[in-house]
Amino acid sequence: MTVNVARYKELKSKLDDRKVTLVAVSKIKPISDIKALYDLGHRDFGENYVQELVEKQAALPADIRWHFIGHLQSNKVKYIAPFVHLIHGVDRENLLKEINKQGQKNERKIACLLQVHIAQETTKFGFSEDEIQEVIQKSSSFESVAIRGLMGMATFTDDQNQIAKEFDGLHHLFQSLKSSVDNDFSILSMGMSADYELAIDKGSNMVRIGSLLFGAR
Ligand SMILES: *Cc1c(COP(=O)(O)O)cnc(C)c1O
Repeated sequence: MTVNVARYKELKSKLDDRKVTLVAVSKIKPISDIKALYDLGHRDFGENYVQELVEKQAALPADIRWHFIGHLQSNKVKYIAPFVHLIHGVDRENLLKEINKQGQKNERKIACLLQVHIAQETTKFGFSEDEIQEVIQKSSSFESVAIRGLMGMATFTDDQNQIAKEFDGLHHLFQSLKSSVDNDFSILSMGMSADYELAIDKGSNMVRIGSLLFGAR
């Protein structure tokens, strides 16, 4: 077992104080690691790969809230649609359409975050800031999708100013949309092991943390 329990407890209380939700990112890590945090009362876990998520979901308690944080292929939505708690990385309209279809089939509304491309790397995914408003408008006709907020990943760099600037931009966009969209639009998912403190300072209310809790992958 490689879970750092002391670090988890410290982090969890720090985040609770600031009303930030901790998504423990357990990709590639064994079920026993997830169980260790579950037994401490943790319920929000994040996974990147559909098949891995489906296997873990079947093997673990039903009250876990599973967050899908990876790049989701449209043809795989159906496998996670029955149980997924929140899909963080919705980055194209076709995907939203498919999530809506699968939500309908499962008779549930699937909660989603729109991913915004804030990093410099072109390899990262997401809508541009300009596209977001339009996507939100279009999605209002999707009855089985609930757009709950935004998600973003900063550039992989040591330059704190650059990261701060990107988080600031996303927070600003989030705030401006929040006033125009309904009450359900309330989640800003930004920050990982290396940059979560900065992300929280910049207004994040949900962080996705893997290696800090489970060790390097
Ligand atoms: C893997 C992953 C994380 C967690 O990264 P760590 O650096 O291990 O905390 C967070 N968000 C996304 C989208 C990821 O793919």
